Amino acid sequence: MDTKTQDRSTVGRRPASRDRAGVTDRAARRGRRVEASCDGPSLDREREKPPEPEEGRPDPPVDLREALFNDGATGPASRIQVPMERITRLRGLMIDLDPGKLLPDNGVFPPAEDPREFLRGIQAVLDRHPLARDAEVRATGTGLHVLVWFEPAVELKDAADQRRWDSLIKLTQATVPSDPQAPGITALTRAVGSVNAKNGARVEILRPGTPIDPQRVVEFAESVRAAPFRTVAGILLGSQRVTPCPFCLGPRSTFAVLDHAGTCYSCGKLGLAALYDAILSPEPPAEAAGTAEVGRSRKPSKQGPKAAQRSPRRG
Ligand SMILES: [Zn+2]
Repeated sequence: MDTKTQDRSTVGRRPASRDRAGVTDRAARRGRRVEASCDGPSLDREREKPPEPEEGRPDPPVDLREALFNDGATGPASRIQVPMERITRLRGLMIDLDPGKLLPDNGVFPPAEDPREFLRGIQAVLDRHPLARDAEVRATGTGLHVLVWFEPAVELKDAADQRRWDSLIKLTQATVPSDPQAPGITALTRAVGSVNAKNGARVEILRPGTPIDPQRVVEFAESVRAAPFRTVAGILLGSQRVTPCPFCLGPRSTFAVLDHAGTCYSCGKLGLAALYDAILSPEPPAEAAGTAEVGRSRKPSKQGPKAAQRSPRRG
């Protein structure tokens, strides 16, 4: 890949200057996600609000989930969710993309409330991703579920297999600006045709996928571990040399992508944390302590700062 001039104005409005030391903070927390063994049943942070009634039509099923594990059961989350220990077959992996967790003005992975517009904006990134390019994309009512289906399914014979695949999935999730609190192998997607009780939106497939050999996940993880910054920046920026530098936008500046960091004459060395900080909305300070559980216990507030950032600017 050669020098590429970004046609977007900038990666983010804020200079990402707080990560001179390389991969820290958010990226480190993401690393811990990879190490996490078991998070128990997925906390799907859903609400109890009933959907708007539709006159003259039979009520569609509400908030049905579909498991990506075992027999792929469909039903209410309370019925089909199981802990990691009971997952013996893995049918796919899910990347949860929530526009509310993205900075509205970022030019790399632009959010949009309309799911089709959101997908259009991030399509190029997904197409560059070695796994997501073959994924089914499902509109969930609040964002997108990127579903990479496996053929054949992965048989998980013991706890070590369960932990290993949970780590592989969390590592994969961390290679795009996805929900950092998403579960790994215990994830549930929303069932096609059901209604999201939060807003009455019907779950639908926006883009069909092609199942992949799960060995590709293992190979992708190896490439990420060998050159984390080069792999992720290549996916997100689409180039190993970006002119002008997307962080400082300096005249004649160039951002060069290396294995473990990127460099610019003005910005110095920037790691994955800086890259993600230019794309993802800030996480609450409670997580500065560094435990994923702190983040997990957080109840998202509709009145919080993220709600204010939620709406992308449109003309
Ligand atoms: Zn720069």
